[in-house]
Amino acid sequence: MELEPGLFVLELFHGPTAAFKDLAMQLVAALTDEALAASGERLTILTATSGDTGAAAAVRAFAGAQSVDLVVLHPLDRVSPVQRKQMTTVQADNVLNLAVRGDFDDCQRLVKGLLAEESLRERGRLSSVNSINWARLAGQIPYYVSATAQLGGPATFVVPTGNFGDAFAGIAAAHMGLPTRGFVAAVNQNDALARAVNDGLYSRRPAIESASVSMDVQAPSNFERLVYEATGRDGDRTRAVFETFARDGAVAFDPDLLTALRAAVSAVSIDETETRAEIAHAHETWGRVVCPHTAVASPPPRRLDRSTGPVVALSTAHPSKFGAFVSDVLGFEPEPAPVIAALGDQAERMTIVDADLAAVLAEIKA
Ligand SMILES: *Cc1c(COP(=O)(O)O)cnc(C)c1O
Repeated sequence: MELEPGLFVLELFHGPTAAFKDLAMQLVAALTDEALAASGERLTILTATSGDTGAAAAVRAFAGAQSVDLVVLHPLDRVSPVQRKQMTTVQADNVLNLAVRGDFDDCQRLVKGLLAEESLRERGRLSSVNSINWARLAGQIPYYVSATAQLGGPATFVVPTGNFGDAFAGIAAAHMGLPTRGFVAAVNQNDALARAVNDGLYSRRPAIESASVSMDVQAPSNFERLVYEATGRDGDRTRAVFETFARDGAVAFDPDLLTALRAAVSAVSIDETETRAEIAHAHETWGRVVCPHTAVASPPPRRLDRSTGPVVALSTAHPSKFGAFVSDVLGFEPEPAPVIAALGDQAERMTIVDADLAAVLAEIKA
């Protein structure tokens, strides 16, 4: 959609949970189920969620899969009603939602314990949903191709970035031959990636909670992939960089590596004040209500030169998923996305358990 001459927005939130992770997750679910059916194996996926967008997307994508069971642990009464309902209104027998009397750390600890549980392994393989799975990136390549085809030529893409998966998918598309004018990774106040690309020093700081919660990442897992490409696929050199980072909490890039990184992507950090201002700006100027993640990716396109080619901002979630924050800025609740409005009166399925490994194990076996 064109907002101003040369300024486009690419809406990626029209899937079953109204966030862009739906797209790739559906591909991962279908591929996983196919592969397991072919080999006759079963898989149990165990995951903990604090109410982020990925877990709900996984529940929706894997519901009804023939060879996969999905167990999702969330902290009881500590995820928003919308996030909970996106998981618990699924009426599929292969999905078990466990509401744990405890916090997110308890859920994570329990999943770690379950993954080590020998008696669960008898039923088949165990796995966890993770954001570094290559198929999740591969599933995001098509939207850069599709957007470029719709525009009829190369564009600059501005990508709201957390783990750098979405942005890296664009870079992968370019490696495959897609003509582009470059990529801008827009991060929130968790700015390790922006500092790395702009200052040449990649350093860890504690994560800070932001309105764009799905981007509160301090060390983006897919950054390693970018560095690997920037070294000319030198595994030893890449390993040395990340070993230094793991040991010292910081690593400085050599000039040649920094030049290669900057050729692949530029990066900008948008703080909370600017995020709020952008939500207001989008509403005043274009009559659009945008989610805080989209708002992080929206200021850079307005500053970029659009006279030589189009700039596309990716829009990753429906604003009603983050209604409280949006309404704090605009003074009204966003209209719910149709898939979210439909959750209202559906029956929920979840089992409440104590934060105790034996209790959780018994529920799963039952
Ligand atoms: C996950 C997520 C992002 C960040 O994507 P990455 O691939 O982790 O960089 C942005 N917006 C929303 C709504 C998300 O859920």
